Amino acid sequence: MAKTYIFAAGDTLSRIAKAQLGDAKLAASLADFNGLPDANQIMVGQAIQLPSARDLKPSTAPLPRAAAWPVAPSGFQGVRDCFGDILQFIGADGNIDPRWEASRIVRQVLPFAIPLAWDTSKSASGIRCHKLLAPLFEEVFRQIVARGLQSAVKTYGGGYQFRAKRSGVKPSTHSWGIAIDLNPNTNAMGTAGDMDPRLVELFEGLGFVWGGRWAGRGKDPMHFQYCTGY
Ligand SMILES: [Zn+2]
Repeated sequence: MAKTYIFAAGDTLSRIAKAQLGDAKLAASLADFNGLPDANQIMVGQAIQLPSARDLKPSTAPLPRAAAWPVAPSGFQGVRDCFGDILQFIGADGNIDPRWEASRIVRQVLPFAIPLAWDTSKSASGIRCHKLLAPLFEEVFRQIVARGLQSAVKTYGGGYQFRAKRSGVKPSTHSWGIAIDLNPNTNAMGTAGDMDPRLVELFEGLGFVWGGRWAGRGKDPMHFQYCTGY
């Protein structure tokens, strides 16, 4: 989703934000993007991720059904404030406490079944997502049907998913149930993919960030997430 920058002697996040993103004030967002609790505790030689300045800006999408779901948060701290502090649920072994899923994740029924990307003989009739976003995902799929885009949704690649976390690696947005992968078979990471632009427009109109806009190897055209700056 971003290019890698190796912290050098004399670097500060402000200096990097100014030099690489054109705005020193993005230093705090940059720290947050990297899941760094303290911007001053970066070691020389440590790798940080540099997203584009656009990725660090908050979402400006309107809320079509005010108060039905939260405004898309920005950054690691913003996501934790809005959807829960997942760090409290990750054990020393990197695994997630089952209470995380029990307290946050629900199943939202889909208006049409989507073949599973990893086994197209089976279909998903619902997606697992954060409970606060169940009405938003309902709206996404309502609009997909209303706009006649059902055939553009070919396979389902996953919603909520927690993968064991290696230390120093921030959890994926799928860990909060605030992301969805569609058509992964033709939208592999690092490729341009073939996501229907009408689907991208629909998701972005509802405040999602599309991974297809990220640069380089982090480009992730199958991926839509409901937060910026992360
Ligand atoms: Zn994804």
